[in-house]
Amino acid sequence: KNADAALRRAKEQGKNNFFVYHSGMNIQTYRTFLMQQELRNAINLGQFSLVYQPKIQLPSEQVMSAEALLRWNHPTWGPISPDEFIPIAEESDLIFEIDEWVLENVCKQINLWRNAGFPQMRIAINYSAHHFLKRNVVNQIKKILQQFEVNPNQIEIEITESAILKNEDIVKQAIQQLKELNLHISLDDYGTGYSSINYLRDFPLDTVKIDKSYIQELTNPQKNSHIIVESMISLLKKLNIHVVAEGVETEAQLSILKDFQCEEVQGYIYSRPLALVEFEQYIRNVKKREITEITSSTKHI
Ligand code: C2E
Ligand code: MG
Ligand code: MG
Ligand code: MG
Repeated sequence: KNADAALRRAKEQGKNNFFVYHSGMNIQTYRTFLMQQELRNAINLGQFSLVYQPKIQLPSEQVMSAEALLRWNHPTWGPISPDEFIPIAEESDLIFEIDEWVLENVCKQINLWRNAGFPQMRIAINYSAHHFLKRNVVNQIKKILQQFEVNPNQIEIEITESAILKNEDIVKQAIQQLKELNLHISLDDYGTGYSSINYLRDFPLDTVKIDKSYIQELTNPQKNSHIIVESMISLLKKLNIHVVAEGVETEAQLSILKDFQCEEVQGYIYSRPLALVEFEQYIRNVKKREITEITSSTKHI
């Protein structure tokens, strides 16, 4: 009970600085424990939702795909970042349930969109690499796609490279099988892991997403980020791997990425991750803009 109150106070103190300083370990352990308990019920209690962040193609500014990101709104703690609760879920089997919930809901949504005549898009989901160590992951994904009659081509699976490290062969095999099913495979947070280059050589990747830490350093003359990003883009394009820059926030970053002929960007400069209704509105507006562009140019003929 004391720890419960302490946790509540810690939450109120923002980033828990106060408790990390005094008795960090115990409180952090207890917080993790509590969070695991609460996560167990989060699905059944309807505390999860999805937000969608558009990915913008360059130079056309067309939107052909979006990333689905998980949100957890706890009734008393409020919104909790996936950066905090996903690693906790990954410590137990919870991660399987959670990621499957995401895949199911995305498939359900794609099915609804199709029936409503909404523009067909590819939706990317983040799948913890823990899944790829399970033998039946491919069949599970296949089953969910079939259940909701979703074309595998409309689902993109984002995997982080740090995760692949743990067991390359097994992960590689699962990825190959997903590719054979026609799913789109992306390597997320590229550049933050260790031996990145051999993934490009050994894994059948469709897309690589350059980590936002590189994008945020693009305009910093003290760092070598812009040389690295330029080389990454050119290397990936030569390897025939689609390249996405994530976390693009400023005009300056965008303009550099355009110079480097980056193929697609994702970031606050175009849109934050949006709740379903806002996302649908965003897509309708983009489509309207494209139609307007076409009609206005035809006027000149
Ligand atoms: P990620 O997959 O690399 O997702 C990109 C993160 O960057 C998202 O954070 C997104 O909101 C944020 N972002 C997008 N544009 C910008 C920008 O311009 N500037 C900045 N500073 N940030 C931007 P979010 O939604 O908090 O997710 C954090 C991470 O949690 C994700 O990183 C992903 O690794 C994980 N995650 C999210 N949803 C799921 C899920 O359903 N399953 C699993 N296994 N992991 C998830
Ligand atoms: Mg991602
Ligand atoms: Mg990422
Ligand atoms: Mg990330």
